[in-house]
Order: sequence, then C-alpha cells, then structure tokens
Amino acid sequence: MHQSPAAMRLKTRVIIVGGGPVGLTTALALASADGKAQDPGSLGQPSKPRKQSRSQGPLRLGRSSSDPEQPIPPLLEALYHRFSDEAKARILTNKEVVAIEEEQDRVRVQCSDGTVEHGSMIIGADGVHSTVRKHIRKLVLEEDPAADVDAESSFLTTYRVLFGSAPKTDDFAEGYLYETHGSNGCTQCHVARQTVWFFVYEMLDKPTKSPPSYTQKDADECAARWADRHVTGKVRLKDIYARRYASGRTNIEEGTLKRWNWKQMVLVGDVVHKMSPNAGPGYDLGVRDVVFLVNSLCRLLESGSKIDTESLQAVFEDAQTQAMGFVKLVSALSAMSLRFCFWQTWYSWYLDHFVARLIDLDYYVNAYIIGRHVRRSPVLDWLPENHPRFGSMPCTYFPKVKTATR
Ligand SMILES: Cc1cc2nc3c(=O)[nH]c(=O)nc-3n(C[C@H](O)[C@H](O)[C@H](O)COP(=O)(O)OP(=O)(O)OC[C@H]3O[C@@H](n4cnc5c(N)ncnc54)[C@H](O)[C@@H]3O)c2cc1C
Repeated sequence: MHQSPAAMRLKTRVIIVGGGPVGLTTALALASADGKAQDPGSLGQPSKPRKQSRSQGPLRLGRSSSDPEQPIPPLLEALYHRFSDEAKARILTNKEVVAIEEEQDRVRVQCSDGTVEHGSMIIGADGVHSTVRKHIRKLVLEEDPAADVDAESSFLTTYRVLFGSAPKTDDFAEGYLYETHGSNGCTQCHVARQTVWFFVYEMLDKPTKSPPSYTQKDADECAARWADRHVTGKVRLKDIYARRYASGRTNIEEGTLKRWNWKQMVLVGDVVHKMSPNAGPGYDLGVRDVVFLVNSLCRLLESGSKIDTESLQAVFEDAQTQAMGFVKLVSALSAMSLRFCFWQTWYSWYLDHFVARLIDLDYYVNAYIIGRHVRRSPVLDWLPENHPRFGSMPCTYFPKVKTATR
C-alpha cells in the first residue's frame, strides 16, 4: 500500500544525534530536501518546494553549542545560520543521548535529562566516541551473539596533535603549507588569507584506545616543549603560539568501521571513519557520507515505497557501499602521509630526503590519485549549483536541477 505524502510526512521522523559539523550538515541536507533551506548562499538557490514531502524534518540532539561561555567554532556557526527559523526550532541543544531502543519499525531515544524522542530512523553523527555506535553494537549482539561486529573500541591512537590558529603575518605566504618532518615530531602551518592554522604532531609512547582528556594547560605545556622548533625558515612555534587566537590538544584516532548501519539506524562522519587531520579530510568525508545517504533516502521516499526497516536497511547499505571506496583510499593515504613525516621506515626517510626534494609528491598524489576521486564526488540531486568549476579535472556529477552552463 502506498502512503500519501501527508502520511509519509507524519511517519518519517529523522533523529540526528550529534551537533558537530556532520550532524548539522545532515540536518541541512534533509531540510533542503524538504524545501526548507532558506538561505541561498553557497548552498545554491532556495530549493523549490518538492512535489513530494520527504520527511518531517530533522531533529538534532547535540551536546554542544548552547553554552554562552563556549565560543562556537566558525564552521558550526556558518552551518547553523543556514537553517530557517522553523528548522532551528527543531534543533535541541544541551541534550545527551544515553539510550536507544528499537520498537516495531520505530526507534526510541532517551536523553540524560529524562526526555524521550521517537522517530522512524536515527542518524548517528555523534563523533569518534559515539553513543549511538555503542548501542547499535549492543542491540546487534543481543539479537545474535555470534554476529560479526566491530570491536567496542575500534579506533587506535598512535599520535596526538597540538593545534591552533593565529593571525597571518608577512612571514607566511597565503595558500602555502609549511611542514617540518622528523622522527621526534612534525609541524604543519596551513596559511589562509588572514589566518594561519598550526599543528604539532607527536607520537605516543604506546598506542592506546582510551579517550583523551587534555586541558588547556596540557596544550600550553606541549607548546612550551616545542617553543624553539622552526615552523618555517624564520618563524618558531613560540612566535606563532604567542599570537594565537585559540589552541587545543587531542588524540588522533585512526580506523574505519565495517558496519555503518543496523535496521533503522545509520552512522555518518567520524563515528565510522577517523583519521589524521594532516591531510585534512575528516569533515569532507563526512559530507560525502551525508550526500550518498540523503540522496538514497530521498529516492526511496520519492518512489512511494513503504518506509520500513527493510527498505531503510537497503538504503543505508547502498550509501555505505558508495562511500566506502574513497574512505578506504583517503584513510590509507592519511595514515601513510603522517608516518612519512615521522620517517617511520627507512624508505620514508629516503623518499623524504631525496625524492621529495626533486619532485612535488603532493602534486602527483593530488593529480593522479585524490583528484580522480574528488572529481567524481556526489552532489545533492536537487540543489542548483550556481558557480560550478570546470578546471583541468571537471566534475563528473551535477545536480539534476538546472545548473549554470558548462
Ligand atoms: C586538529 C584538527 C584539525 C582538523 N582539520 C580538518 C580540516 O581541515 N578539514 C576537514 O575536513 N577535517 C578536519 N578535521 C576533522 C574534522 O574536525 C572531523 O572530521 C569532524 O569534526 C567530524 O565531524 P562529526 O560531526 O562527525 O564529529 P564531531 O565533530 O566529533 O561532532 C560530534 C558531536 O556529537 C556530540 N555528541 C557526542 N556524543 C553525544 C551524545 N551521546 N548525545 C548527543 N550529542 C553527542 C558532540 O558533542 C559533538 O558536538 C580536523 C580535526 C582535528 C582534530
């Protein structure tokens, strides 16, 4: 039996757990699919109301962003401002999901403040120490103790990073990446128009699976130890650290999960793939997960098929299959490039000292490996792209709505 759009609207309630960049991006993608994204900006023109309603709209439960003492990172702020007032009203902050239960083709989410939410599905975007992931694992094992599940702590930390941003000075050339390599630690400075992002990578004495707990004091102590390290030919870490806007320290967990979904629950972003930020792709990959998922979900809703556990499971599997190849490639390259900077093998030392001085390795990796995949990046089917770029590697996919002339 086909459901009418109105019934579908009432019955398709998506709960997004996690208010980080990937959770907010998911909520925006769903809101735009529902014709509710108001701000054209870089997302394109406001979507026309769709001929069929896709969801009741996103509900995000997040722990972050409502504490007035905590500055909201610019990316989160930029994403948040894309929502219409109506969609903002569905964003619940200061909520911590503590339990998840499945009911007949429905899910039930319980928060630490005692409130409960029901929905047709859960999208878990609650980061590397995900509660949704733990609950999925528990539910899978309850149903089948012999099931092939990912380990409870799937990610291993071998490195940690001190990071921060500071105003750009004339010592740095805009658009450049400055790196120093060495077996005891590496540094990076990414230079934008007005800001420099700096990173100091260190190797742990022993790899760990425990979550980190660093304070600002830890970050300052780490900076003091590295104070005299040159981050460019002229600038030392202490010079840039003294001018910093903000800094922090965290572990670099690495790993990719085998299982990204179960029944009406699906995971996206750092929950399922975590890697070193030295190649900077974590959020990018999260966005790809979201685009594959939301496109597939919308096609299901548009088809008028029944929305039940089986149909959702098929959509989730399809999205994972589409995302997985690039995730594996980027994870491997990220891990390799970090270890390369630490000269962890004799050939990385050799390559760095001799080959990398003769040829631009980054160029070849980007042009011949990464670029070929990036150009095949998915796009949301319904968002017009007003400024598509056609360089030496033009994009393969374009929205299904009218786009500027190619
Ligand atoms: C130093 C550094 C630099 C980086 N630079 C880049 C870069 O240049 N480009 C790039 O693409 N990526 C970069 N990354 C990676 C990027 O930050 C991550 O990939 C991205 O933040 C992942 O987003 P997420 O929403 O999946 O997870 P998170 O950012 O971890 O967000 C998860 C959210 O879920 C909330 N949450 C957790 N548990 C619960 C719960 N039980 N209930 C409710 N809410 C919960 C958390 O409070 C948080 O708000 C960098 C990472 C680091 C550490």
